[in-house]
Amino acid sequence: MPMRAKVASSVSRTAAAISRAAGRGDGSVIGGWIGLKIDPDLLKNLATGRAIALVSGTNGKTTTTRLTAAALGVLGPVATNSFGANMPSGHTSALAKAGATPFAVLEVDEHYLARVIDETTPRAVALLNLSRDQLDRAKEVAMMAQLWRTALADHPDIRVIANADDPMVVWSAVGSPNVTWFSAGQRWHDDSWVCPECGSSIERREGEWWCVGCPLRRPRAQWVVEDEGVTDPNGDWHLVKLQLPGRVNLGNAAAALATAAEFGVRAIEGVPRLSSVTSVAGRYAQVDRDGRNIRLLLAKNPASWLEAFDMADVAPTLLSINARDPDGLDTSWLYDVDFAPLRDGRPVLITGDRAYDLAVRLTVNGVPFRHVKTFDEAIQASPPGRLEVIANYTAFQDIRAELDRVN
Ligand SMILES: [Zn+2]
Repeated sequence: MPMRAKVASSVSRTAAAISRAAGRGDGSVIGGWIGLKIDPDLLKNLATGRAIALVSGTNGKTTTTRLTAAALGVLGPVATNSFGANMPSGHTSALAKAGATPFAVLEVDEHYLARVIDETTPRAVALLNLSRDQLDRAKEVAMMAQLWRTALADHPDIRVIANADDPMVVWSAVGSPNVTWFSAGQRWHDDSWVCPECGSSIERREGEWWCVGCPLRRPRAQWVVEDEGVTDPNGDWHLVKLQLPGRVNLGNAAAALATAAEFGVRAIEGVPRLSSVTSVAGRYAQVDRDGRNIRLLLAKNPASWLEAFDMADVAPTLLSINARDPDGLDTSWLYDVDFAPLRDGRPVLITGDRAYDLAVRLTVNGVPFRHVKTFDEAIQASPPGRLEVIANYTAFQDIRAELDRVN
């Protein structure tokens, strides 16, 4: 590395360590920010010589990044931004901290994918899904898909690993010469009823989808979630035993195995590694407190709420909603979530800065609930046994802090 990059990298590591020691998170954002101030090409310099995979999408990218890094670990040390700092400052910090590694797997915010591709020259890019998120500032889904499509068109050498079940993802990737398709299912359809190519409607039947006005349709997937496992491109089925709940995580596992395969990891080698992932920055963590087994589920937007309802047991459930900067300030998306699955008689508690927004939504949706002011009050209001917690980003972090920053 050039001397300037070496200095910048060292200062970045020190700044991150000081920030961590001061108890201000994991320090990766500030560390990377300072490093990039000293050397604007630091990310490019740190990426040089590594075989890199990028993982992007609206939902599941932190988990899929962790699973991909675990699978790629078969081949050697892997640098990764495992705590979700997914913009260039976070990538810079992660690579500086890891030192020289042959591999890196980086989670990338959807909006930054083009820039991070330019700076890191990845071998592979995994595209998981696109749906509405952070309504006050995120791009419309079709605009996001267009950004990805343009970015990939500029880099035809990249191996793209893309979700065949999401029409918006398919449209953004279909022009690339090297695409491996995986099938992870798609429970949320409400951002892809209109073809991004021609504006006609998209129809769906038995797992297939197609545009009625142009040739855009679901491609045949090489990696497919089937029963409790994943079928690889050779047609071999592998039982995948995850410690993470839900069919959505089997889909994330399929994406991780398909991505690792681009680096030469065989499914039979990658699969056992996936079960080493127990929770991801608090997501899916289980904590026992006062006789309650508390499980944390992060849900940030309508698509991820649907997945959370699929994962959650029929048990007392605490919902917590904030609307601070990282969450997005607009909570009108609550009306895009159908809370009807909670009408089955399970006790529902609500809390968070915007609990009253949630209260109105649940009333309209016919879901009985009780408001609690604090997390402790929620625990006391629940009978012993499982308590499911479903929260959006900062609400999740608040509850995680109450549980001593459980990972
Ligand atoms: Zn069309």
